[in-house]
Amino acid sequence: MSDVQYKVLIGMEIHVQLGTRSKMFTGAANGAHPDHFNAPPNSIVDPVVLGMPGVLPVINKRAVEMAMMVGLALNCEIPGFTKWDRKSYYYPDLPKNYQISQYDLPLCGEGKMELPLADGSTKTVRIRRAHLEEDAGKLLHEGHAEFSQVDLNRAGTPLLEIVTEPDLTTPEEARLFGEELRRICRYLGVTQGIMQQGHMRFEPNINLHIVAEGKTWKTPISELKNLNSFRAVERSCAYEIQRQLAEWHAAGGASQEPTKKVPKFTLGWDDDKGVTVVQRSKEEAEDYRYFPDPDLVPVTVSAEWRERVRKDVVELPIQRRARYEKDYALTHKESAVLVEERGNAELFEAAIAAGGPARRVTNLMLGIASKTANERGVLLPELKIPAGTYASLAKMAEEGTVSATAAVTVFEELLSDPAGDPKKIAEARGLVQVRDVGATEAWVDQALAANPKAAEDYKTNPKKKQASLGFLRGAVMKASAGKADPKMVGELLEKKLNG
Ligand code: MN
Repeated sequence: MSDVQYKVLIGMEIHVQLGTRSKMFTGAANGAHPDHFNAPPNSIVDPVVLGMPGVLPVINKRAVEMAMMVGLALNCEIPGFTKWDRKSYYYPDLPKNYQISQYDLPLCGEGKMELPLADGSTKTVRIRRAHLEEDAGKLLHEGHAEFSQVDLNRAGTPLLEIVTEPDLTTPEEARLFGEELRRICRYLGVTQGIMQQGHMRFEPNINLHIVAEGKTWKTPISELKNLNSFRAVERSCAYEIQRQLAEWHAAGGASQEPTKKVPKFTLGWDDDKGVTVVQRSKEEAEDYRYFPDPDLVPVTVSAEWRERVRKDVVELPIQRRARYEKDYALTHKESAVLVEERGNAELFEAAIAAGGPARRVTNLMLGIASKTANERGVLLPELKIPAGTYASLAKMAEEGTVSATAAVTVFEELLSDPAGDPKKIAEARGLVQVRDVGATEAWVDQALAANPKAAEDYKTNPKKKQASLGFLRGAVMKASAGKADPKMVGELLEKKLNG
């Protein structure tokens, strides 16, 4: 293929199920709430969900507030007035034959997200809008050749649809955007963000601007429907870039005339085969006949209400990451791992507030604590070790009361006794470091007397000098039963050997 320059444009539409107790327009339980996720089919429905005649929808205020929180976190404008529209279409998973959505006056207007990239830099992704709507039910086709089954548990689930501008330029950025949005939504507590349960669905819009011989070709826009994993987002975008490029070349490359109109196609992603499949062209897209829902009053958002909701917008992961690097001298990687889960970050901050030195707390949390939490498949708070205990243990390590190794041993004991006192455990296990010069000197002399060869090598053989010192240091620690302060041991050893 000839050498052409091209720019990738990826915009994203995301549907987030909000984890309220009840549904968007009725009191029936919401399947996206942790208490109801495995409800038997068609068990969390009521006349409103079923679209019975004569029923009226009632707005779920909490869902509106959760949507506002996400909008505020994405720096969106929150207009003072927003209304509901009916989007009409026929499908067996939609009993009313219309979806309640928002058309021209969404709850959240323009905004932007600061997206952290892999190299530590950030880029701005513009948000076009975000609106509230209701989810449809589900059709199950598996297991029966002759019929499909309808499950309306999902129907009426509050759904926040977020639309970005096409500011993402690589498949990796598309994935990172999805991951960061999930992080933000989880921090705000509006969803658990469990991808396997469909809490978040991604729809990348992707096309290329190909430049050759002074002309620009805009390839047709592919809208990839309903991706439910970050891997699928990245892989499908990468596939589409290559497919669109190949298609342009096959159609004649630079010899074809650029078209003014950019057509749009809806495609599905076959995860097993790793290919996209055209579902329909937007030319034949249906007319949804949007019109204001006469059953619902518009929502007026006062400045007072908006500011009250803003108070629930906690410090976001990207802000915390930057603060940890600046205030606690954490590396980018360390801070990224710590802020991944809000619960972990809060425990970290509580340990520091309780007087724990940041470096030692970080080492404990990212070392032995994270290792254990991963093994148990839980988050750090679920290890039940209080923030104050992390602080005390970190302080003991900092002050040299216990060695870094002994601190890990104490922590291991705390895992089975989370209410335990690290100081008492260290004493009981004989792990308290002896920082008495006389006692340490005695252990040094004992080790030197027992290992004359190593001492001799240190003095006479430059090649073996470092190795001998390491060996002798180990011998002193052993003589002290691990109680000596390694720093003091090193100093005293070198003084004796060189003196
Ligand atoms: Mn939608």
